[in-house]
Amino acid sequence: MSKFIKSIRGMHDVLPDDTHRWQAFEQTIRQLMATYGYREIRMPLVESTDLFCRSIGEVTDIVEKEMYTFEDRNGDKLTLRPEGTASCVRAGIQHGLLHNQVQRLWYNGPMFRHERPQKGRYRQFHQFGVEAFGIATPDIDVEQILISARLWQQLGLTGVRLELNTLGSTEARKNYKQVLVDYLNQHRDLLDEDSLRRLESNPLRILDSKNPAMKQLLDDAPVLFDHLDEESLQQFDKLKARLDAVGIEYTINPRLVRGLDYYCKTVFEWITDELGAQGTICAGGRYDGLVEQLGGKATPAVGFALGMERILALLESQQQQPAPGVDVYMVLLGDDCEIRGLQLAEDIRRHNPGLQMITHCGGGSMKSEMKKADKSGADIALILAEDELTKQQVTVKYLRDKKDQQSVAFDDLNNFIAAL
Ligand code: ATP
Ligand code: MG
Repeated sequence: MSKFIKSIRGMHDVLPDDTHRWQAFEQTIRQLMATYGYREIRMPLVESTDLFCRSIGEVTDIVEKEMYTFEDRNGDKLTLRPEGTASCVRAGIQHGLLHNQVQRLWYNGPMFRHERPQKGRYRQFHQFGVEAFGIATPDIDVEQILISARLWQQLGLTGVRLELNTLGSTEARKNYKQVLVDYLNQHRDLLDEDSLRRLESNPLRILDSKNPAMKQLLDDAPVLFDHLDEESLQQFDKLKARLDAVGIEYTINPRLVRGLDYYCKTVFEWITDELGAQGTICAGGRYDGLVEQLGGKATPAVGFALGMERILALLESQQQQPAPGVDVYMVLLGDDCEIRGLQLAEDIRRHNPGLQMITHCGGGSMKSEMKKADKSGADIALILAEDELTKQQVTVKYLRDKKDQQSVAFDDLNNFIAAL
C-alpha cells in the first residue's frame, strides 16, 4: 500500500458536518452587505509578488516571512494572496472602478500565510473583507464599524470589544517616527533582534511587538497621539462623536498600529478574550495613500477584514447549532420500484424546489434502508415496495414524530409534500 498523503500543515478541510455553519455565516454576510449597499467583488487567489511587496510593505511580517511565493513555468514571480485589500485595489485601478467615483465593495475567500499554525492561526484561512473607496470623511469609517457591529448582532456573537486609534497623516507619522527612533536608540540594549532591524526600516512596527521583555520599554515610549496633525485629530473627534451618537462603545488604544504599512488615520480592531492569544477577530482602518502607491489616482479608502475561522470558533463556543438533516428519505425496494421511484422523486423535486430529499441508492433490505433513512436525519420516509407499487401509492412513515404511518396515492404525492 502506498503512503497516504495528508493535507498541508495549517490548511484544513471543512467537513460536511461543519459546512452548514460556514454557509449560514456567508449567507448572513451577503444579506448584511446588501442592506448597506455594498457589492461583491471576486479576485484571483494568485497575484504578482510585487503587488504585495509594494502595498503591504517590505518590512512587515507578511512580506518578510509569511508569503507563499513561487515562480510559475514562465519564470514569473507569483504569490498566493495573504490578504485581500491589495488585490481589491489592483482590480479597482485595472478596471477603472476607483477614479472619481464611490465604490462600496466586499469579498470573502481563502488567504495564505506561512505562519506557525495554532488555534485561530492557520496557513490557509478565510477572510471576509469590506472596502470603500472615494470618501475621505470619517462618516464612512463609522459606517464600516457599524457594519461589523451589526454583523456581531446578527450572528448573536457577544463579548467582543472595539479598540480604536488614529495614526494621523503620513507627514505627522514621519515626524513621530523620528521622535520614536530617538527614544529607542537611547535604549538599544533593550531591543530584540527584530526590533533592531526595524529601527532602521520600519520603527512604528516595533510598537506592535509581542515580546514581553520589551513591554516596559514600549509602555514608556512617546505616544503617536501627542504628535498628530490637526486634521487627523479633528477627523478622530468626528469619528468618536458619531460612534457615541449611535451607541457604539470603544476604548482608545494608542498602541494600536496594525501590522500592515498602508494604514493612516483611523485604525480599529474587534477583540475577544475568549480565544486565547488569537483574540483579534476583525481589523481595519483607513488607507488613503494605497491607491496612488499602486499606480492609481489618489483615492481615499477605508476597509476592514475579519478572520472567519476565529469568528466561527467563537460562535461555536457561544451557541449550539445543530446540523440540519434532509427532509425526506425515499426507500425503494426492488427493480420496478427503483424505476418508478426515480420518476416520482424527480416529479417531487420539480414541484418542491426547496425540498431536501435523498432517494435511496445501492439496494438492500427494508431494514437496512430504513436504518439509513433514520440516520439521514430526515423527518419522513417515503416507502415504495411491491405492495405500494401495485396500489399506486407510497407509505409515509414519520421518523421523528409519534404519528401513525399513512398511505398517499402517487397522484396526491406532490400536494402532500408541499403541505408538509
Ligand atoms: P494577527 O495579529 O492575529 O496576526 P493580523 O494583524 O496579521 O492578525 P490582518 O492581516 O489584519 O491580521 O487580518 C485580519 C484578520 O484576519 C485578523 O484580525 C484575524 O482575525 C484574521 N487572521 C489573520 N491571520 C490569520 C491566520 N493566520 N489564521 C486565521 N485568521 C487570521
Ligand atoms: Mg499576522
